[in-house]
Amino acid sequence: KRSKVAALLAATELNQEVLVKGWVRTKRGNKFVSFIALNDGSTINNIQLVADAEKFSEESLREVTTGACIAATGILVASQGKGQTVEIQVNTVEVLGAADPEKYPLQKKGHSLEFLREIAHLRPRTNTFGAVLRMRHAMAFAVHQFFNDHGFYYVHTPIITGSDAEGAGQMFRVTTLDPLNPPKTETGEVNYTDDFFGKQTNLTVSGQLEGEVTAMALGQIYTFGPTFRAENSNTTRHLAEFWMIEPEMAFADLTDNMDLAEEFLKFLVMYALNNCKDDLQFLNDMYDKELLNRLNFVVQNDFQRLEYTEAVEILKSAKQKFEFPVEWGTDLQSEHERYLVEKHFKKPVILINYPKHIKAFYMKQNEDGKTVRAMDVLFPGIGEIIGGSQREESYDKLAQRIQEMGIHEEELWWYLELRKYGTAPHAGFGLGFERLMLFVTGMGNIRDVIPFPRFPKSAEF
Ligand code: ATP
Ligand code: MG
Ligand code: MG
Ligand code: MG
Repeated sequence: KRSKVAALLAATELNQEVLVKGWVRTKRGNKFVSFIALNDGSTINNIQLVADAEKFSEESLREVTTGACIAATGILVASQGKGQTVEIQVNTVEVLGAADPEKYPLQKKGHSLEFLREIAHLRPRTNTFGAVLRMRHAMAFAVHQFFNDHGFYYVHTPIITGSDAEGAGQMFRVTTLDPLNPPKTETGEVNYTDDFFGKQTNLTVSGQLEGEVTAMALGQIYTFGPTFRAENSNTTRHLAEFWMIEPEMAFADLTDNMDLAEEFLKFLVMYALNNCKDDLQFLNDMYDKELLNRLNFVVQNDFQRLEYTEAVEILKSAKQKFEFPVEWGTDLQSEHERYLVEKHFKKPVILINYPKHIKAFYMKQNEDGKTVRAMDVLFPGIGEIIGGSQREESYDKLAQRIQEMGIHEEELWWYLELRKYGTAPHAGFGLGFERLMLFVTGMGNIRDVIPFPRFPKSAEF
């Protein structure tokens, strides 16, 4: 049975026979000995294989080149080499899959992130993407741990849905009709009667509305699944397919929501610091010397909580020139969000009570008639990482808002009925998983924190 490199590097029992399998990172040597650095994905660190020339002729190691997949047996021994405590004195080497060194796209010199995006099938074999993917796993695991520990149930909301939620214009249509020649009604509109669902359906833009359904029965729930938005923007923080974590709590108000968001984010960052040490150290040294400082700062300091109206005042009197000037009523852009976080408060910010006309129909209206109990959490380097709100629990107010905004009430009859039968105050939020990944890895582009990014004109698979 093979041992994982992570376990071998931490082993205390030496001089035992071991079997390792993995991909060759480098091979170097002289006429007495060859050194092979092997990685198997279990850690960012390689294990060194030492092959004596007495046992291994140059010819026998000819196919052991960068990129090749090999299996090796040998004795785990203490190492004199710099930066490692153990190595393997090799007895046998078997090449499982050779990689033509002339053609293998991942060369030792390192590649730009842009180039690596074009070879999404090989980039997981780089140190950077190994680190990102292991951290993605750790963060997903931490999400479930947090909610399980806090008594939230994990529910699965649908991916194909008939509800438009709030995704005006951003939805991917799902249909079994011939898109080039759909059946038409007498008035010339697409007739969905023959479609699989008998009506227009989309890929979900958020699991929130269905999440509210289950929160109104189970009390505290969360969803964690893929969401889809036909974002036509080519930004470093938007994808067309991303993962979202959406908790929903019955019997909760905006303050409970802020408290949960802050505790949750701190827990996740702390989890990364405690469980991803080697990967974080690598990313810190390689890309962003402030990464570890920033992560430590976030877990140790309270977030700044602030009214939207106060934020607008700060932005209006800022010395910095913004591309889009701000007035009360403006939807904040990432340049404004980042100014508040990075320049003004120098800490994460939770902004609340936004103007109602820039927010979704389901948010609870404040007494002032102008604002709603919205909440955005803003992070350094990113801007909005969480969007949430206390929800409108009054049937009449919700129905009125739906009408005002020109939304088809028939589509939301079930959502309205939640307010008709046993309504309760409730609140929740959505955390974009890839925005979290941007923060904890320090990567600069959202396309580099998901294995197969989907964006306009993305790579072929
Ligand atoms: P933004 O203002 O950045 O476009 P949003 O306000 O449209 O975000 P929400 O509808 O509030 O986003 O969604 C909740 C969270 O989902 C956001 O706070 C963000 O973390 C994440 N998110 C939204 N859109 C995207 C996207 N296209 N790609 C990745 N993450 C996203
Ligand atoms: Mg958006
Ligand atoms: Mg926003
Ligand atoms: Mg938002």
